[in-house]
Amino acid sequence: MMMTKKQWEFCLDQFAEMFPDAHCELVHANPFELLIATLLSAQCTDVLVNRVTSVLFKKYKTPEDYLSVDCEELQNDIRSIGLFRNKAKNIQALSRLLIEVYSGEVPPNRDLLMTLPGVGRKTANVVVSNAFGIPALAVDTHVERVAKRLAMNRWKDSPLAVEEKIMRWTPMNKWTDTHHQIIFFGRYHCKAQNPGCAVCPLLPICREGKKRMKTNAN
Ligand code: SF4
Repeated sequence: MMMTKKQWEFCLDQFAEMFPDAHCELVHANPFELLIATLLSAQCTDVLVNRVTSVLFKKYKTPEDYLSVDCEELQNDIRSIGLFRNKAKNIQALSRLLIEVYSGEVPPNRDLLMTLPGVGRKTANVVVSNAFGIPALAVDTHVERVAKRLAMNRWKDSPLAVEEKIMRWTPMNKWTDTHHQIIFFGRYHCKAQNPGCAVCPLLPICREGKKRMKTNAN
């Protein structure tokens, strides 16, 4: 059985109650730093990204700074991060485009952001919502897992389908907060391994949770 809208509204209340202070955990001081940090965070933890950017952002402050070094030097500066070779190339390519097309500024628009190298829909949504306050709902691995475990979506649905369903059932003024709350819920409670089903307020309506509890009881 798929989840109903009423059940989703119950979930929203529980997410907000459990994680009222959920926020973007990537440390940044401006839209450009958030763009770089989000790009670095693909398949990597925010904790590691913050460790690297605490040094990186002192050395590189503008798109020009990233273009003032060889790609090898930038790769070396971010080498503890997964996919560092590609990410360094993308950072330099997007820096070039920002200078040539956008006067060195990050455009406050998802579609324009998605034209930048290495920037997909998720990254663009994170940047517009957190840096510019534009309602958006980025679907990362945590959001996707939680939505599918709760039978909000089918397992075969794409991240875009998950995004559209959550947006349809969530008031627009809650999109950004809900995004952070589901990420915290997935990161700290409904974890990929060993989710906290036994103490979960959503267990009575959760398909996956009930299945897991039954398996554990057998
Ligand atoms: Fe996640 Fe388990 Fe809660 Fe379902 S019951 S939302 S699987 S922690």
